[in-house]
Amino acid sequence: MAQRTFHILTFGCQMNVNDSAWLSRSLQQRGFTETTLDKAGVIILNTCSVRDKPEQKVYAALGRIKYETRHTPGAFAVVAGCVAQQIGSGFFDRFAQVRLVVGGDGLAMAPDAIERLCHERNLRLNLTDFSEVYPERDPALPASGGSIPPVAYVNIMQGCDNFCAYCIVPFTRGRQKSRDASAILDECRALIANGAKEITLLGQNVNAYGLDGHATNAPSFAELLRQVAALPGLARLRFVTPHPKDLSPEVIAMFGELPNLCPRLHLPLQAGSDRVLARMGRKYDMARFLHLVDALRAARPDIALSTDLIVGFPGETEEQFQETLDAVRRVNFMSSFSFCYSDRPGTAASRILDKVPHAEKLHRLERLQAVQEELSAQWLSQKVGCQTELLLEGTSRRQDTGNGESWQGRDPWGDTVNVVLPSGTGAVGQLLPVRITGARKHSLIGEVLQS
Ligand code: SF4
Repeated sequence: MAQRTFHILTFGCQMNVNDSAWLSRSLQQRGFTETTLDKAGVIILNTCSVRDKPEQKVYAALGRIKYETRHTPGAFAVVAGCVAQQIGSGFFDRFAQVRLVVGGDGLAMAPDAIERLCHERNLRLNLTDFSEVYPERDPALPASGGSIPPVAYVNIMQGCDNFCAYCIVPFTRGRQKSRDASAILDECRALIANGAKEITLLGQNVNAYGLDGHATNAPSFAELLRQVAALPGLARLRFVTPHPKDLSPEVIAMFGELPNLCPRLHLPLQAGSDRVLARMGRKYDMARFLHLVDALRAARPDIALSTDLIVGFPGETEEQFQETLDAVRRVNFMSSFSFCYSDRPGTAASRILDKVPHAEKLHRLERLQAVQEELSAQWLSQKVGCQTELLLEGTSRRQDTGNGESWQGRDPWGDTVNVVLPSGTGAVGQLLPVRITGARKHSLIGEVLQS
C-alpha cells in the first residue's frame, strides 16, 4: 500500500492553483498528509498547456519525481490538468510511475481514485472524459470557523466555446459549462465563514457565465456579481478572465454600483491590430476595445486595466506590431502578461504557414515589455502619497526592519503593498488603512494610518 502522504506541483493559471488547493484540502480531509516531494507517496502534477513546450516540462518533472521518490515504497504519480487531457493514457506507456491521469472535468473524482490506487497496486485509471454538465464537487471546507487564506477563488464555469485561433483551452477543458448559481453562492458563503475577505470568480471566459444553458436558472453574470457582492462579510470581489466581446453594459455598470467590486479589470487585448485580431478569431476590433475602456472609466474613473498580449502571431507584420505598441500606450495598461506566439497542436493558428521568425518575435517582445515597464513604473509612482486600504496576506520573506515586522498585502487595485507593523500586532486577513510612501519596481511601500 502506498503511503498516505502527497505533494502537489502546480503549473499554469489561477484555475489550476485553485484546483490544487481544493485537491489538497480534499485529500487532507481523507487523512492524507501533505509533505515534501522526496517523502510523498502520491505526487500530483497539475499541468498547463497554454505556454511553450508544456509536454516537455511535464516529462522533465516526471523524471525528477522518479528520482526524488526512489526511496519511497509504492510512490506513484498523478498527472492532472490540460496536458493530462491531451496525452491521456499515453502517459501510462511512457512512465511506469504514472497511475492516474485526470482532466479538468475528472478532477472531482480524483480523491476517490487516489484512495483506490493506494490500495490496488496494479491499477491505473484514466479520468479524461468530458462531462455534460459542470462537474460539481464538495468544496472540502470546514463547516465554519476554520482558517483559510483571506483571498479565495471560486470556479463559476469550466471550459470555453470561443476557439480563438491560437488557444488550446477548448480542446483541453472542453466546451463551456456554467455552474449553478446556488452552488457558487454556497461556496462563497462557506469561504467567508472560514475567513475569506476577498473572492475572485474564475472562468476561462468568466463573463459568458450562463450563456451556455448548462446551469439551472442561471442569472446574468451582472446579476451573479450583484448577488455575490451582497454576501455579508465580503470586503472585496474580483473576476477573471473576461472576454472583451462578452463585456456587457450591465457588467460595466457594476463597477459603478458595487462598492466592493475592486477597481481593477484584467481584460485580454492580445493584439492592437484589427487584422491580427481577426486572424486570431477574437471577434472584436480596436474600436470596440477602446469603447469598452471608455465605458469602464466612465463607470469607475479610478479603474485600472491590465491585459494579455501575444507578439509574433503568424503573419504579424512590423506595422501590425506597432499597432499593439500604440494600443498599449493609448489604453495605458497598469501591467500586462506578454508572450511570443507558439503553436499549440490542433489549433487553427498552428496550420498558418506564415510564421514570424523566433528572433523577430523575441525582439518585438523586448520592445513591448520595455513600453509596459515604463507604464507600470508610472502607475506605481503616481500612487505615492495616496491613501488606500490594505488586506494583509502574510509576513514578508525579508524581515530586515529592525523595529517591527514586515507584512505584505494587496490594495484594491491588486498591487502588492509592504508595511512594517509593531511586532505581534499584524494578522492575516486584517484590513488596514495605509498611506503609500514609496514605489519599488513591482510593488509599493506603505505606512499604516490610525483608523
Ligand atoms: S476565450 Fe479564447 S483565449 Fe480565452 S480560453 Fe477561450 S479560446 Fe482560449
